[in-house]
Amino acid sequence: MWCCDVNNTAEMANEPVQIPQQTIVTLDLEGVLVPEIWIAFAERTGIDALRRTTRDEPDYDVLMRGRLEILRKHDLKMADIAAVIDTLEPLAGAKAFLDELRLRSQVIILSDTFEQFAQPLMRQLAFPTIMCHRLIVDANGVLVDYQLRQPDQKRRAVEAFRSLNYRVVAAGDSYNDTAMLSAAHCGFLFHAPDNVRAEYPQFRALDDFDALLQSITTALAAA
Ligand SMILES: [Mg+2]
Repeated sequence: MWCCDVNNTAEMANEPVQIPQQTIVTLDLEGVLVPEIWIAFAERTGIDALRRTTRDEPDYDVLMRGRLEILRKHDLKMADIAAVIDTLEPLAGAKAFLDELRLRSQVIILSDTFEQFAQPLMRQLAFPTIMCHRLIVDANGVLVDYQLRQPDQKRRAVEAFRSLNYRVVAAGDSYNDTAMLSAAHCGFLFHAPDNVRAEYPQFRALDDFDALLQSITTALAAA
């Protein structure tokens, strides 16, 4: 029995009619709807050290400090990364999945990416609401720092939505999603690597958009 299997007892005769709670689905971005931006950039530049993601390094600050240091060492600027992001597309099936999901529930993307990275990809996804972070870029286009809008923002957003009396269903692929999945009424791993699946067996792990849409829809109804 998963955390969010439907309880059908309300369908029994003489049960009072249950009023469904309003819902929000929170989705991770990279690895779920779009490719990993840093991996795409690593492939384009041939810098293997930039391939590390939250899947490999659970400490996000360690990961980001390392990335900024590598960029400085190779004299790579915002424009170099933007040029790569401009060539990226959502994962196959992601746009159709998101369109269908948005017919069924409010959807908010909770991502540890940055506004500067997300913008071109949000355009291709018809501008869903996204909450993420921001890069600090100097006048020469050098990435000098990054600014977390709020630490642990995925978990805190879900807790805030719950405090507003929403039922929250979440999906993500990495270590940085697990607090969000735990905070939600129901959480799913999607496209998660084996190490994350093994460490978090309490979350159902799915790999295709049809199954995710079906599972989220069921979880939304399981008030
Ligand atoms: Mg991800």
